[in-house]
Amino acid sequence: MHDLVVIGGGGAGLTSALTAKKLNRDANILVISKDDLSYSPCSLPFVLSGEILSFDIIGHDLKGICEGSHINCVIDEAVEINLGEKKVSTRREGDFPFKSLVIATGGRARKLDVDGSNLKGIYTLQDIEDGKRILEKAIESEKVVVVGGGAVGVETAAALRKRGLDVSIVEKCDHLFGHCFDKSYSDIINKTLEDDGITVLNGKSTDGFNGRRWVDSVNVGGEDIPADFVVVGIGLIPNGELAEKAGIKTFKGAVQVDGWMQTSVDGVYAAGDCVFTRSLVTGQPTFSQLGTSAVRQGKIAGSNAAGCYVAMEGVLNSMVLKLFDMEIGRTGLTESDARDMDIPFISGKIKTTTKPQYFPGAEDVYIKLVFKKINRQIIGAQIVGGGEGVADKIDLCAYAIQNHSTIEDLMKLKYCYTPPLAPINNAIVDAAENAYRKMARLEEVRRRKF
Ligand SMILES: Cc1cc2nc3c(=O)[nH]c(=O)nc-3n(C[C@H](O)[C@H](O)[C@H](O)COP(=O)(O)OP(=O)(O)OC[C@H]3O[C@@H](n4cnc5c(N)ncnc54)[C@H](O)[C@@H]3O)c2cc1C
Repeated sequence: MHDLVVIGGGGAGLTSALTAKKLNRDANILVISKDDLSYSPCSLPFVLSGEILSFDIIGHDLKGICEGSHINCVIDEAVEINLGEKKVSTRREGDFPFKSLVIATGGRARKLDVDGSNLKGIYTLQDIEDGKRILEKAIESEKVVVVGGGAVGVETAAALRKRGLDVSIVEKCDHLFGHCFDKSYSDIINKTLEDDGITVLNGKSTDGFNGRRWVDSVNVGGEDIPADFVVVGIGLIPNGELAEKAGIKTFKGAVQVDGWMQTSVDGVYAAGDCVFTRSLVTGQPTFSQLGTSAVRQGKIAGSNAAGCYVAMEGVLNSMVLKLFDMEIGRTGLTESDARDMDIPFISGKIKTTTKPQYFPGAEDVYIKLVFKKINRQIIGAQIVGGGEGVADKIDLCAYAIQNHSTIEDLMKLKYCYTPPLAPINNAIVDAAENAYRKMARLEEVRRRKF
């Protein structure tokens, strides 16, 4: 009998096992994983681009990592969770009884169900094997169509463009990153991608794939776009089936968890891409499916499975990407999220430079902060442009959201300055001041009406 069995050796699963072990050195812990390697899927696009030289250097032997931390590891597929007998059955290695269980089975790439989708040469990018197949084809190809303008699609498109391919992105929404950035900010990203040679087709549906055995073109809104191969990046399906079959509650295919990452069954926790979680801003259920959330949730699930009582605070879906020389980042709610949720908001927006304009290497950067009108608290941020520093600024905004900072708090931010690194006027302070002026104007209008 193991004190804790973890299904899945990805970011969420491995973190929960390591956390539980740190908290209880005597605990007998087992990780069951289909995959014998531990790696971050986030690194895959950078092997495609050539920035990381080989897939061989991103993966580490999972068994070795576990052994180093005195955790048992079985490389096999978990095929059944028996809650009555409190055991996990695997395909080849038998049954493993548990006292506590963490389900961290991740997700799988969503496929497009249109004419021709069974043709060869249509890939998704989820694991190292996918990456190898895409790279092998990319090396001998000229043209690729990427279906999907979210993070995975756009990162893959940029990577393949860096390899010298002729790349088109097809996105059915009217702008890229539909759930992450407002249209005006997405338009800036769009322009950069086009300047770097990528064709972006927004507001177009992918109606089918053409070819005899191998795809040779993609039907996009009635027009055939030639392609030597296709990468589809249209989202993730949570691997919630194992839990669902066991009788654990799921929602939209994902495992439902409470604020302690516990499922509907006592002593059974879940974390990572397979769960449906909560927004820190609204408290509403949301998907996160980010490596950062997987690690945080893994820590909470592992702590609680080891007997602690730690609450998961919710997610902000902070994200940062580097596309060619441009960095983009976001956290919390966009204006369009706030509009959809009927949250009255006011935004502070500025365009500035990453360093004083006179300093070599200064680049344009656009910052938007979204505040709740009712209490002036920050609920979201988007930053586009500039070749450096976006990740730190997004983290600062996320911290401000977590701590309910107001427009006035951010206007008082105590920041640093030196010409090679940052301008004398801080971008976040300037954006907050912009929101402050807008609020003041609104109040003035109301006063006059009174
Ligand atoms: C191309 C790409 C780029 C990304 N870039 C970023 C980024 O820049 N930043 C970011 O925050 N996030 C990024 N992500 C998302 C991030 O990688 C995931 O959110 C994170 O890896 C999820 O971790 P996880 O442990 O939940 O799932 P996974 O990492 O998918 O791990 C799940 C593991 O469970 C195993 N498993 C599944 N079912 C079973 C079973 N029945 N029995 C045994 N084992 C099983 C799988 O084999 C797998 O090893 C990216 C994802 C992709 C695909």
